[in-house]
Amino acid sequence: MEKNFSLRELNTFGFDVKARYFQELKSMDDIHELTRNPKFIECRDASRILILSGGSNILFSDEFYDGFVVYPNLKGIETLEETDKTVKIRCYCGEVWKDFVDYTVSRKLYRLENLSDIPGKVGAAPVQNIGAYGAEVKDAIYQVHTIDLVSGKTKVFCNEECHFSYRNSVFKELISQRTTHALSQRDDKSLPGGTWHALYMIFAVDFILKKHGELKLDYGNIRNYLISNNITSPTLQDVAATVKAIRAEKLPEVSVIGSVGSFFQNAIVTNEKFLELKECYDNIPSYPTDSAFVKIPSGWLIDKAGWKGYRESHVGVWDKQALVLVHYGGGKPQEILDLMKKIQDSVKEKFGIEINPEVNIV
Ligand SMILES: Cc1cc2nc3c(=O)[nH]c(=O)nc-3n(C[C@H](O)[C@H](O)[C@H](O)COP(=O)(O)OP(=O)(O)OC[C@H]3O[C@@H](n4cnc5c(N)ncnc54)[C@H](O)[C@@H]3O)c2cc1C
Repeated sequence: MEKNFSLRELNTFGFDVKARYFQELKSMDDIHELTRNPKFIECRDASRILILSGGSNILFSDEFYDGFVVYPNLKGIETLEETDKTVKIRCYCGEVWKDFVDYTVSRKLYRLENLSDIPGKVGAAPVQNIGAYGAEVKDAIYQVHTIDLVSGKTKVFCNEECHFSYRNSVFKELISQRTTHALSQRDDKSLPGGTWHALYMIFAVDFILKKHGELKLDYGNIRNYLISNNITSPTLQDVAATVKAIRAEKLPEVSVIGSVGSFFQNAIVTNEKFLELKECYDNIPSYPTDSAFVKIPSGWLIDKAGWKGYRESHVGVWDKQALVLVHYGGGKPQEILDLMKKIQDSVKEKFGIEINPEVNIV
């Protein structure tokens, strides 16, 4: 266990945050040992535990995390079962997501190709049901292996039990309940610590991938990009390469400019609200959802509210994609929080829509 550990390399915003306690976990034995560590138990009972993987979807609200950061880093990829049509693969939480996708594409297995080059680790992928270019990881997940850091017991969640939805899952719900409580407790010391029944850490994910599949080309610029590169019968590898190329054009390279990718979730509005907006903004983009709601890209709303390319001291809004807030270096987390609030207020004022952060604020 490390004390006053710098997380600068472990959050893609690149803020110089320190953690009171930090522990890397490389094996199941490390995990069991952790659950007996008195410092861990003390922090757990005070709701001051953070499970941190690649830190590409986390914004620290302070420069000191006064708690225990757990860094799960179990490695390994195993083929569990193979039939004529499918392959089941177990991947441990510490594997880098983009490397795992490359591995599945190199084995000509379908389902993850549109999720190429998303930063982070495999253990975090189910948490917000990562998605991109019309695909979501939920469609490739067979089951999720967890260990409850309260009881020390393992629990396997089948796909349905994960309650996956747009950028959400049972894991994210539980995390946000705990962090909301911890943040209010920090501001109001009279609040009691949390008595959490469970604190699930994902240590492995089982995927079910297809040997033959249909490529998803209709989202974003994939089809246009393929046409402009004279690719008329794209392969799985072509789609993965295209997604990578489009992402590289649109998103900042986190080793150079700090970000967490999309800072806000896309807005979900009622059909009624959408029609009202359409009267004023004829070209408003939208995607249908499963229900009586319409999804509007928050990047468009932020752009139209005039924020694209905006810079204020150390932070700003990426000039190629307004959904991405960036940290140019040397700044503090509070600067991003202030910018977030200004953008939310201005979108609310202009369109009457509340946009919520996709990033986990801790
Ligand atoms: C440039 C850029 C582009 C991005 N593009 C996309 C995109 O296209 N689509 C998309 O969905 N996301 C995108 N993201 C967000 C991010 O990459 C994903 O959410 C990713 O899955 C986060 O992984 P991580 O390992 O960095 O998790 P972290 O940021 O470390 O953690 C994220 C959350 O998961 C929890 N968590 C982490 N590991 C575990 C575990 N083992 N068990 C239980 N809980 C855990 C954490 O407590 C936290 O709440 C992007 C980020 C960046 C920086």
